[in-house]
Amino acid sequence: MSGQTYDDNNIFAKILRGEIPCHKVYEDDDTLAFMDVMPQAPGHLLVVPKSQSRNLLDADPAALSKTIPVVQKLAKAAKEAFDADGIFIAQFNEPAAGQTVYHLHFHVIPRREGEPLRPHSGKMEDGDILKTNAEKIRAAL
Ligand code: 5GP
Repeated sequence: MSGQTYDDNNIFAKILRGEIPCHKVYEDDDTLAFMDVMPQAPGHLLVVPKSQSRNLLDADPAALSKTIPVVQKLAKAAKEAFDADGIFIAQFNEPAAGQTVYHLHFHVIPRREGEPLRPHSGKMEDGDILKTNAEKIRAAL
């Protein structure tokens, strides 16, 4: 692996270019949010800056300053939509930390008391369920 460089063939770059589909929750000039296809809990979504960086370590702070308010907005919407007790925000940097897609993204995961998280990058969710969950979050925005 080439290490620390950005490869624009990663799956989120393809989603940002519209080359592969996603269940979109939110979009503005700088940010896209969509459902994670292997959710760790119902309502698990990803917030992705449109500007290119591998992860947090090489990101432009100016891009981060636009992304974090969107993470907050979607955390609140997901909490309401899923009647969650809490929201887990996760962000992995490099393989040793669990990163598997090399375009910066923030996981927004609704949590409910007593419900364990499913494994990271575990089982693919049914498309109809992802569509319904995206609509629920959009309705809470
Ligand atoms: P990472 O380990 O890089 O933080 O997590 C990448 C996330 O992207 C995982 O939670 C995984 O389920 C999700 N993912 C992988 N491929 C796709 C895809 O093609 N579409 C969507 N929407 N999510 C994906």
